[in-house]
Amino acid sequence: MAGLSRSLDQVKDRYDVIVVGSGYGGGVAASRLARAGKRVAVLERGREVLTGAFPSRFPDLKNELQVTGKRMRTGSSSALYDVRLGEDMHVLVGCGLGGGSLINAGVALRPDVRVFNDAVWPGQIAQDGLLDEGFKRAERWLKPQSDPRAAMLTKYKALQSAGKGLGYEPIAPTVTVSFEGGVNAAGVDQPACTRCGDCCGGCNVGAKTSVALTYLADAARHGAELFTHAAVRHVAKDKDGTWHVHVRRLDGNGAAPQDLVLCAPVVVLGAGTLGSTEILLRSRAHGLALSDRLGQRFSANGDIIAFGYGANIPVDAIGIGHPPKIEGVEIGAAVSGQIEIDDEHDLAQELRVQEGVLPSALAPALPVLFIPNGRLLGALKSLINGVYKGPFAKLQTFFAVSHDSAAGRFVLDDDDLKLVWPNAKDEPVYKRLDAVLTSIVTEAGGSYVKNPLAGTVMGHQPATAHPLGGAGMGRERADGVVNHKGQVFDASARAGSTAVHEGLYVVDGAVMPRSLGVNPLLTITGLAERAMLHMAQDYGLAFDDAAVGGTAVAPADLGAIIAA
Ligand SMILES: Cc1cc2nc3c(=O)[nH]c(=O)nc-3n(C[C@H](O)[C@H](O)[C@H](O)COP(=O)(O)OP(=O)(O)OC[C@H]3O[C@@H](n4cnc5c(N)ncnc54)[C@H](O)[C@@H]3O)c2cc1C
Ligand code: SF4
Repeated sequence: MAGLSRSLDQVKDRYDVIVVGSGYGGGVAASRLARAGKRVAVLERGREVLTGAFPSRFPDLKNELQVTGKRMRTGSSSALYDVRLGEDMHVLVGCGLGGGSLINAGVALRPDVRVFNDAVWPGQIAQDGLLDEGFKRAERWLKPQSDPRAAMLTKYKALQSAGKGLGYEPIAPTVTVSFEGGVNAAGVDQPACTRCGDCCGGCNVGAKTSVALTYLADAARHGAELFTHAAVRHVAKDKDGTWHVHVRRLDGNGAAPQDLVLCAPVVVLGAGTLGSTEILLRSRAHGLALSDRLGQRFSANGDIIAFGYGANIPVDAIGIGHPPKIEGVEIGAAVSGQIEIDDEHDLAQELRVQEGVLPSALAPALPVLFIPNGRLLGALKSLINGVYKGPFAKLQTFFAVSHDSAAGRFVLDDDDLKLVWPNAKDEPVYKRLDAVLTSIVTEAGGSYVKNPLAGTVMGHQPATAHPLGGAGMGRERADGVVNHKGQVFDASARAGSTAVHEGLYVVDGAVMPRSLGVNPLLTITGLAERAMLHMAQDYGLAFDDAAVGGTAVAPADLGAIIAA
């Protein structure tokens, strides 16, 4: 089975557009600009993982972990889970062709309208009508939908019964999962979801509507060249306005990494909040004039993952994988139910609590994580059965999202990205989330476990999988790093100027100037679609977002697209 990516040996020196990173933002840019007839290269630092090859056993999962902390680093640079241990906060992001979409839960929600009415955004975002069009396009391509069987799932019922006592009725949030199966907008024939619960380990069925199965497949179909193991270090502008993209090759199998320089008149950064901010910070260190706001307004989106252990009701929220590790159980997608705590007066108080599923490959580690001296108790002996039938059948996992003050800051420390947010753990959102989750867990008869790894190398810092900001939007360079179209402000222009570096864009989570209060993928995708619509106007490009016709390809055989 073949994939979408090519060997870096085939990369050319020059393209019309170089897209850096291949998550939601990068995927949208690659698809739309390839549709516009541009010669596009996508540079992704991670590797391509085809449907069927995501980790399903614990040893495989362990190999998919790369951890970077203060003066330490373990794991392969192409491992899927990229954990950054920070002194103030930890961050988890995805690494691979498709970015975070490969390992996320796929919850796709529009934020409350008050989020975009905040004066922190440039006015055009709420006013020019293209945000709504961007969201519509994102929805047409990612097809968010609620599980029609959600209310029948044990984990949904567990949330329902715990929530009821507290006066909350869950709803089934929309997720980027194909529950019916069928050919998607990019011409990929996605099978129906088996409700195996392994979304956050990577979907081995092909039912999760990832960026790889949509925007990247579409980009490749329209001639974009996709390269993996290509980590961009920084960008620099030539006198004639050409961008030089400095790339580190990570495909050397242990040999010393080699560097390449590629050129293009347009560079679109879609390397994610951490990746794009780091590239810009390094580019500034190499002389590019960028806003003083660069690195600022980092938000964790009030996001946490937490657990309830010892509930008196069944939960069934450990994935069974595909092929299933046990028969006759339907777990559901990683998120099937959500409790919404609204506040019409104070947006900051709003919370979304989602019941989550841990991927099956993590099952063997659960006894060690949750039972003191689990190893000695021999809990590892009957791992699989124990996990599905024993106390772990009652383990509740929660993903919760809200708002924070976006007061984090990225800096370069010895040429590497560092997150600084001294009072992060005192953000009021964490107390609110603890209180709500404690009541839900207590109502289910269990105990709240905020972080089973607290006190280990993880310390007691909060952790997020929704990093946002660092290259936030603003009206001008004094209050933002990019404008409402994602164009990067040129700080060499006079103060107050809205001049931009022609041809340099950011289109990912880094451009958010604040928390969103809902899971961010749909907003990132919608804003990237919006940025492409503006780019089409500015450069006189023509493209549509019509679904692809013709022969459909299988999720595990995307390479057929290139071969055709
Ligand atoms: C376990 C988990 C569960 C989640 N669940 C949800 C959910 O249910 N709903 C939701 O909305 N969000 C969820 N998220 C968050 C969501 O996936 C991210 O917000 C989203 O993927 C960010 O999109 P992006 O385009 O900004 O960047 P990413 O998707 O992070 O993509 C950036 C890409 O750029 C690559 N890259 C980075 N640096 C470089 C470089 N220097 N050179 C080349 N390439 C580079 C990365 O490897 C990555 O592939 C979850 C995240 C995780 C980790
Ligand atoms: S539940 Fe299983 S089949 Fe369905 S989207 Fe998630 S990983 Fe894929």
